[in-house]
Amino acid sequence: MASLEEILKISNIEDQKEKDLIKESFSFAEKIHQNHLRLSGEPYFNHVSETAKILAEYGMGATTIGAGLLHDTIEDGEISEKDIEKEFGKEILFLVEGVTKLGKLKYHGADRHNESMRKLFVAMSEDIRVVMIKLADRLHNMRTLSFIREDKKIRIAKETIEIYAPIAYRLGIRKLSRELEDLAFPFIYPKEYEEVKNIAKHKYDEMLQSLEKFLKSIKKELVKSGITKVRTEYRVKGLYSLFKKLQSKEKNIEKIYDILAVRIILPNIEDCYRALGAIHSSWRPLPGRIKDYIAFPKPNGYRSIHTTVFTGDGNIVEVQIRTEDIHMESEYGVASHISYKEKRGKLNNELIWAKHLLPKENENGQNGGPVWIRELVEYQKNQKDLKLINDDLKSDFFQHRIFVFTPLGDVVDLPRESTPVDFAYAIHSEIGDHMVGAKINGKMVSLDTHIHNGDVVEILTKTKAKPTAKWLDYAKTALAKKNIRSALQKEKGSK
Ligand code: MN
Repeated sequence: MASLEEILKISNIEDQKEKDLIKESFSFAEKIHQNHLRLSGEPYFNHVSETAKILAEYGMGATTIGAGLLHDTIEDGEISEKDIEKEFGKEILFLVEGVTKLGKLKYHGADRHNESMRKLFVAMSEDIRVVMIKLADRLHNMRTLSFIREDKKIRIAKETIEIYAPIAYRLGIRKLSRELEDLAFPFIYPKEYEEVKNIAKHKYDEMLQSLEKFLKSIKKELVKSGITKVRTEYRVKGLYSLFKKLQSKEKNIEKIYDILAVRIILPNIEDCYRALGAIHSSWRPLPGRIKDYIAFPKPNGYRSIHTTVFTGDGNIVEVQIRTEDIHMESEYGVASHISYKEKRGKLNNELIWAKHLLPKENENGQNGGPVWIRELVEYQKNQKDLKLINDDLKSDFFQHRIFVFTPLGDVVDLPRESTPVDFAYAIHSEIGDHMVGAKINGKMVSLDTHIHNGDVVEILTKTKAKPTAKWLDYAKTALAKKNIRSALQKEKGSK
């Protein structure tokens, strides 16, 4: 269990009011969960406090940490929304409710559901902090997954690797994404996990020794060229990521150069370029592997200078050069922006979405679609077989889309301002062609009514009914228009 003191210390929050908020959420949640145990036999509150600790580690502010402490109170306690609002206000209630709603979605594994789930996940997350809390919640659940029933374990692990890790990655929270993948990996592919673990261990041991020496020499060279303020570290490639890469390299680990990457972190961008020069004058770079993502950031916003060099003792190592700020952003992504905003004034969710998730214009001034979609398109060219990526590609125009339900709970996604006409044709052309009326959330509506996110729509049909030309004005989707036109055409022909 994480103690209150621990959470406060990690959060770095100094404002007394904010500290009090965390303190009150802590005691409130502790009291609500006092009689609950987890399957492991430990108090349920352990889970809640650990979730809050993760949020603090990711730099979240008092509101998000508070909501993290309270995230399971509605679900598990005898507490109502009203109680939360009375004690902690609207903002925290909104976050807690958001997380509670996400908890109710069940993952079915089948492709269609899988994709819908992912869309829904994002669509429902009107506040990015809800996703942050959910990710922290999932991370702690994954860390303690071994206590869960066997069949449930695999379902949760799959859901983690197919939904949560990609979302964390897409939000630029690479550190969290890596940990989620690596925690889920052994549960889903036990045999492959052992295999990769063995291959990796051997290689890591071999490389680590060489790396220590290499890092020392780099520092020496940098000092020689006048760069004295430098921090170095290395990152080990996650096992799941290595597993994926091995699949595309015929299992030849010698062909993977970024198993261990050296990171050189400098005070400013000028130093980064000077360091690159200094390194290349001492170690021969591998041709074709020098990448300047600082001058030309990756479509997802990633920045860093990469080069791969021969270390001189038979090893080849990737070197990543960046500033401290860029480094934070590349590991924490959206989290670092929430952190900044939440701690220094009002969080503007719109701004965060705009910065990270909405379409950006490319160099030619053309709109290239959401940034990560372009990245995925590039990625997909190389790795056609990665189905996961394919799903990602299809699913992310949610900004302009709504998610609507059939009375049976199936999800249909439509463009904004769609009408029952679009909905009917989205389900089946036969339904569209024979529609006589529609209900939204149980109430009869006219066919030109705009459907809203989360509505339940029911279509009434009669065998003899037929589309009219007016429907063309009601329809928003090309699919509906096409079907209406062809039905009208047929009607004309038969007369
Ligand atoms: Mn939870």
